[in-house]
Parts: sequence; structure tokens; C-alpha cells
Amino acid sequence: MRQLTYDGMPIPGLNDLVRTAIRLHPAPGVPGPDESHFGGPLLWPSDEPWPECPVTWPPDPDASDDAWTGGHPLDEPVPAMVAAAQFFRDDFPELPFPEGTDVLQILFCPMDHDSPHHQGPAVRLVWRDAGEVRDITDITVPPSAPDGAKAAYVPDPCVFEPCSIDELPRLCDFPAETRAALGIPEGAGEDPEGWPELDQYSKIGGWTAWDATDRHELGCRECGAELRQTIALASEEHEVGCGCEVAEGEAAGWSFRRQGVLNVFTCPADVTHPFKIRID
Ligand SMILES: [Zn+2]
Ligand SMILES: [Zn+2]
Ligand SMILES: [Zn+2]
Repeated sequence: MRQLTYDGMPIPGLNDLVRTAIRLHPAPGVPGPDESHFGGPLLWPSDEPWPECPVTWPPDPDASDDAWTGGHPLDEPVPAMVAAAQFFRDDFPELPFPEGTDVLQILFCPMDHDSPHHQGPAVRLVWRDAGEVRDITDITVPPSAPDGAKAAYVPDPCVFEPCSIDELPRLCDFPAETRAALGIPEGAGEDPEGWPELDQYSKIGGWTAWDATDRHELGCRECGAELRQTIALASEEHEVGCGCEVAEGEAAGWSFRRQGVLNVFTCPADVTHPFKIRID
């Protein structure tokens, strides 16, 4: 890696700041329930109820951790969710699968929900053992998208052509000790001169491509650990020279708040602790 400095000072522990992200490179396709995808069918057992939106009013504190300022009234039908993404451990072992699980399913309530930190779809993560479904023809046929669903939150089916890419954090994600060693003043947000750009694309792992906001209140409610960038779902797939041969594909057709990125943050101590979403 070339020499990177802050105010002329070499960055201490620079190599430790590098995270390797798996860039997804979504491309239009016809994925099956036993494949990783955006917007395709989920491997969902036929005898398990299809999930509803977790953001209700009054709120259910166990269902979501995003300090919602409203929700679907409980005396009316709560909207059914739509399939947003599915990732199998065989394809993406980098994801922090809890023991006994080998597929991550992401569902959206495709409407706007408001919290102090973002406005966008409500999200559920389901970590599942694919072995619960013995016969892939025997899965739940999901209900159609709820009335009032925003087309921008319902993805077009995509398959992935993943590659890996090394990333460095934006200044707001520098560890406290790095900031202290460099004498970076409190509140300083501009990346050092010549710092590699962190652009938007869908990925697993890596660093958050903060653009309009920065890291704020991302401690784990359960254990206090700083939550970690885990999945980025991007409105646009930017050309960044990741070094692979995959041509820039179409994005999944979804659009999060001013063409932003929906970032999922999970607890590094225990991925089943409450996660948080930031759209930036
Ligand atoms: Zn909802
Ligand atoms: Zn935790
Ligand atoms: Zn690539």
C-alpha cells in the first residue's frame, strides 16, 4: 500500500485498518430459492408464518432497535414483508453466521418508517439452517407486496458475481487511538488528503461509505460493543476499479433516500444482538 499520511504524519497501524469487503456485483437474473440473490424467492419453510413488519405502534422493543418514531397501528393489519436478499454460507462464508445456521435472509417492509437516524424500509434479518427445508418445492409462496408498497424498495431479482476489494475507513470510523495518535481534533470529518475514496456499491463486510452523515449511536443495545458494518445494499453500483473482470452491472432497481446505501450494522460479539440500519 502506498504511503498514506495525515498532516504529513504516517498513519499508525495502517495495515490493521484495512478490511477486505466482498463486492456483490448484482446482475439481473432468475435465482432459485436455493441460491444467493437480491429479490428472488426465499428458502422459507412452508409451515412457518411469513413475517410481518416489525415496526408497530405501540413499538415492540424486541422486534427492532432503531428508535422508530412511529409504526403500523396494531389495531389494523400489519403489512407483510417482501424478500430483499438471501446469502448462503457456502457463497459468503465471510458473513458471521451463528452456529447451526447457513443462510441469511433479509426482508423489507417496503414503506417509509421514521427514526432519528434514517427514513426507509423496515428490515428483518433471519439466520436460518437451510436443512429446515427438506424439499425446495415445499416452500412458502409469499403474499404479494402490501398496499402502498414503494416500488423503490422492492428489488428486481439479481444474482451475484462477487469479487473482493480492500477498503480503508472514512475518517469518522478511525479508531479512537488512531485519532489520538494523529492529533485529529474532535468533530473533524474530512478524510486526509490523498485518502482512497470509499464509493458506493453493494457488499458484505468492509467499511461504511459514509457520505451525507457519519457514525452516530452505533453501540450495541445488549452489550455495548461498537456495531460493525456487515452488509451494504446500494442504490447505485459505482465503478471503482475493484480489479475484477465483472462489467458494471445494473443496480437492483431499489433506491434508498437520495440514491443512498442501506447499511446493516451487527454486533461483533454476537450477531443475534439487535442490529441497526443506517441509510446514507
Ligand atoms: Zn412497515
Ligand atoms: Zn452486542
Ligand atoms: Zn469487482
